[in-house]
Amino acid sequence: MIQITQQIESWMDNRANNALEPGAPLPAFGKPLVGVAHGEDALFTFLKHDIGPDFYWTPEEAFLSAFPEEQTRADELSVIAWVLPQTEHTRLAQRKSLDLPSIEWSKARHYGEMVNENLRRYLVDLLEAEGYRACAPVLLPQWSRALSGRYGFASSWSERHAAHACGLGTFGISDGLITPVGKAVRVGSVVVRRRFTATPRLYAKHNEWCLFHATGKCLVCMRRCPAGAISQRGHDKVKCKQYIRSVTAVHVEKEQLGIRVSSCGLCQTKVPCENRIPLAMR
Ligand code: SF4
Ligand code: SF4
Repeated sequence: MIQITQQIESWMDNRANNALEPGAPLPAFGKPLVGVAHGEDALFTFLKHDIGPDFYWTPEEAFLSAFPEEQTRADELSVIAWVLPQTEHTRLAQRKSLDLPSIEWSKARHYGEMVNENLRRYLVDLLEAEGYRACAPVLLPQWSRALSGRYGFASSWSERHAAHACGLGTFGISDGLITPVGKAVRVGSVVVRRRFTATPRLYAKHNEWCLFHATGKCLVCMRRCPAGAISQRGHDKVKCKQYIRSVTAVHVEKEQLGIRVSSCGLCQTKVPCENRIPLAMR
């Protein structure tokens, strides 16, 4: 796995692959974190039943969606997930924003997600070139959005949940994944028919690294959210989406990039979990 991690790092080190916008000298993201989970990990089965038994994929189902003609078993598969940290440049600009995202954040949301998409393709091609069948679940044509009875807006495969299973972080009250490099991140994953050593999950609960869940105090992200979409009960996805659709995406089109982008992320900066695990500081 060390070799795969090094290849991901070196791909991300190349500014032609990782730029805040095409041709820009600034990177979209800092040094990635990489983690692995085994395909038969019971957490994936739990997630399927918890999120949506009718639509949410286990790694085996994602793999078989990509390769329906292949015979495979869950215990032949690995999930490789990564965390791409927002740069200090982007985080500092976003910290100054109150109701609307900074242009740096919007660029990282738009062009940075293209970097993330290309990283998924790069890793799939790399593994395939080495003789291992691989797919990026969220890039499959069968991947779709869905409605979860328990959680509202959902999809066939969640990158954040894959990263959580791969030992890369736990959820905050705002639904963001708090990773060792914080919550101002983007995440991605691939499923491969190859065995790697699983990354230990250094947590027992899905929300262990959130200060509010751990101590009953914090809620800084709640106060940062201009839409009132975060409360002690958690993240209101409907309010969040509505604010992004009607306010921030319009702002990005009119004032920033000339295109609609689902940019906001104010709850990801100027918070104790922005670029670290908050409990580790205490
Ligand atoms: S800002 Fe505080 S309450 Fe919100 S996710 Fe981070 S640690 Fe949890
Ligand atoms: S993305 Fe924006 S609207 Fe949604 S919860 Fe975070 S700050 Fe609020």
